[in-house]
Amino acid sequence: MTIAFIGLGRMGAPMAATLLRAGHDLTVFDLEPAAVERLVAAGASASSSPADAAAGADIVVTMLPTSAIVETVLFGDDGVVDTLSPDALVVDMSTSHPDDSDSFRQRLDPVPFVDAPVTGTSDRATTGTLTVLAGGRPEHVDRARPAFEALSELVVDCGGPGRGIRMKIVNNAMSIALNALSGEIVTLAERFGLDSDDVIEVFGRTPAGRGHFTTTWPDKVLAGDLSPAFTVDLAHKDLLIAVEVGRSLHVPMPSAAGALLDFSRARHNGRGGEDWTAVLADLREESLRPRHR
Ligand code: NAD
Repeated sequence: MTIAFIGLGRMGAPMAATLLRAGHDLTVFDLEPAAVERLVAAGASASSSPADAAAGADIVVTMLPTSAIVETVLFGDDGVVDTLSPDALVVDMSTSHPDDSDSFRQRLDPVPFVDAPVTGTSDRATTGTLTVLAGGRPEHVDRARPAFEALSELVVDCGGPGRGIRMKIVNNAMSIALNALSGEIVTLAERFGLDSDDVIEVFGRTPAGRGHFTTTWPDKVLAGDLSPAFTVDLAHKDLLIAVEVGRSLHVPMPSAAGALLDFSRARHNGRGGEDWTAVLADLREESLRPRHR
């Protein structure tokens, strides 16, 4: 398979090298000449523009910082569409904005487009053990599958066009927000004089460290049972203590304070006596509430 690979940064460079090792023919492009030279040394062909890279390619892969840059590379001067074969496939593996991704699909039509962002960092790009989150029609995902399988230990078919990038956005929202919340809480613990290793050990035994998806949720909110093992009212009380003490110790806790607002709204909506996992039920209901535009 002949692949045009555009964007050879922290992720793109090891991904391109992995595809070369798997036996694919690669033509590469990046604004940074040194990045291109390193891939040429590994066996890729150089190109002078996105259009030059795309000429004759079966698949054009983009791995670029933002969807604004993906748009320039696809549709700008000397862009991919200038030379794209009608038989080719375009695969954006960047973390793009979903609305932009949908618009790329429409503008490229009838050339098919697959949104296929990845989870995992550069070490997993190097070892070909990323997870690919594929969004596209099944026959288009299948055309890209040999490349996806070289890059990953798991290809998740996310259920159709646009679903791969949406899976990536929700996954990253969770892990990025948890990173900030974890930082707030560990800082509070340290200001209490607790040892952060002890904190991490305790958290590893509770939903604090293990998360809710495999602990509290399955038998409660996901099973439709909101009878309380631990009430929304008591969870609200505990979190309010932490946020108040955090404020007196000057620990910035905006993520925890945001969570407190979710529990306050659940109480306001009459859920104070329900199980604390009812916060999900309340958020679902809020998101579906009719609104004036
Ligand atoms: P990066 O900044 O390291 O690399 C981006 C590359 O794109 C650079 O080499 C840059 O020169 C090149 N580039 C920029 N504009 C260009 C243009 N107009 N034409 C050609 N090349 C151009 O970024 P990264 O960390 O490799 O991330 C790429 C994408 O993958 C992002 O959307 C990111 O969110 C996503 N992602 C990153 C990671 C990670 O761990 N770094 C993991 C998963 C997904």
